[in-house]
Amino acid sequence: MSEVSVTKNAEGPAPAADQLVVLDNVNKHFGALHVLQDIDLTIHRGEVVVVIGPSGSGKSTLCRTINRLETIDTGSITIDGKPLPQEGRELARLRADVGMVFQSFNLFAHKTVLENVMLGQTKVRRTDKAAAMTKARALLDRVGVGTQADKYPAQLSGGQQQRVAIARALAMDPKVMLFDEPTSALDPEMINEVLDVMQQLARDGMTMIVVTHEMGFARSAANRVVFMADGRIVEEAEPNQFFNNPRSDRAKDFLSKIL
Ligand code: ADP
Ligand code: MG
Repeated sequence: MSEVSVTKNAEGPAPAADQLVVLDNVNKHFGALHVLQDIDLTIHRGEVVVVIGPSGSGKSTLCRTINRLETIDTGSITIDGKPLPQEGRELARLRADVGMVFQSFNLFAHKTVLENVMLGQTKVRRTDKAAAMTKARALLDRVGVGTQADKYPAQLSGGQQQRVAIARALAMDPKVMLFDEPTSALDPEMINEVLDVMQQLARDGMTMIVVTHEMGFARSAANRVVFMADGRIVEEAEPNQFFNNPRSDRAKDFLSKIL
């Protein structure tokens, strides 16, 4: 099986229309640090890609370049065939198309849960308030926090807040969802409630890029595992192959430490 473009129904090369996120020879430095080195990565529609690797390997930076929280030095990134916009309303729209969920939940503390999920819809998508509210309530129900709608984020557990953050991103009808260690800041007993929501999203066909150390999630939800080290993609493979039979010494070493 090809290690570069494994998709659920892969039969021969996927057509270009199937390519939702394409990074072509992307390089980025922070000063002297070459944090992303010659990154080529294509994410197909409906694909779930889990990115793993040691701390400092560039996983967060990779995610942040895809919704242009970070600029790149060379190479190109396209989303649904279009290059990333540089600024202004186009950029706001890109960030709506590329939902992002961070380790820290980043909800607006002075807005209710419901308002948090309505805000992007009314401001960026220009949805009218009533429609935004209906949609927000439905999404909060979907992630299991419908009864918390009128509370403030601080009144919720970490697991609940993270599910609100997922609902908020989904409210924009994103084309792809990026998750950067979404369960790393959670108490252990709350990890599964967030992973379950992500698992369901994956089953529903959402295109997802997930940075995580949750190998159970990677095994059950990922179509492909991308292993990064020192700013490079060292290895990519379908999860069973990667976990049972990693090829690179870097991946073997990493897996021996975490499994
Ligand atoms: P990971 O998410 O895999 O832990 P990061 O993408 O956060 O890795 O970081 C990769 C490297 O880039 C690290 O060495 C980190 O210290 C460095 N780095 C990240 N963000 C910045 C920044 N804004 N300025 C300078 N160095 C940074
Ligand atoms: Mg990180």
